Amino acid sequence: MKLSDLVVIESITFAASEAKDDPKHGQVHSPVGKTQMVKCEFCKGTGKEEGGYIDPKTEERYWESDIADLSSDIKQRLKQIDCDFCRGEGEYQDFVSDGPEMNLANRNAHVLLDLLGIEPDHAGIIWNKDLPKLRRHIIKVLNSDNMRKAVIEPSETGGDITDKRVVKGDDGVSQIVTRRSPKMIDSGVSEQQIEHYFKNVLELIVFAQKNGYNVGWS
Ligand SMILES: [Zn+2]
Repeated sequence: MKLSDLVVIESITFAASEAKDDPKHGQVHSPVGKTQMVKCEFCKGTGKEEGGYIDPKTEERYWESDIADLSSDIKQRLKQIDCDFCRGEGEYQDFVSDGPEMNLANRNAHVLLDLLGIEPDHAGIIWNKDLPKLRRHIIKVLNSDNMRKAVIEPSETGGDITDKRVVKGDDGVSQIVTRRSPKMIDSGVSEQQIEHYFKNVLELIVFAQKNGYNVGWS
């Protein structure tokens, strides 16, 4: 996979969190875990971009499929391109959570927070002492109608004609040109998805309770 193939979706991660006193910033919440070197998944740990080559003299880049057509001079100079993500190292530093964590697209995280009875926000904390109450609340919601009410059906909006006019081309022929608004596809949130989120949150709560942590999201 190339880095440019990545689609960035704004998301929120739920994880066990610890509150620490910081002399400068007062109380600081941080997810429980540690930073460690992990194998780069973009180059599968090779440190090289698969099929990508560079001529160090001209800095021209080539794909594997182009090589056959190159002069033997260039062919001799070719070197594999370093992976963009790990800069050729094959691994990089990443934060690894100690406990269960859950990453949700912003909108889905808001649906979940709303069902948990928490004002949806981009970041927040549920204190350890409030976890038993939240657990009871989740069991109640799982057995209620609220979950079905929170379901968002898939929908498609946009694609409407916003402009339609007759335009005369260079060849003197008139034609109708229409312009449409961008189409937005919303894949919705199903009851199964919500149930799945709840199961993960319960798992996270159990872990946090057992280890004396809070539950945070950001
Ligand atoms: Zn890499």
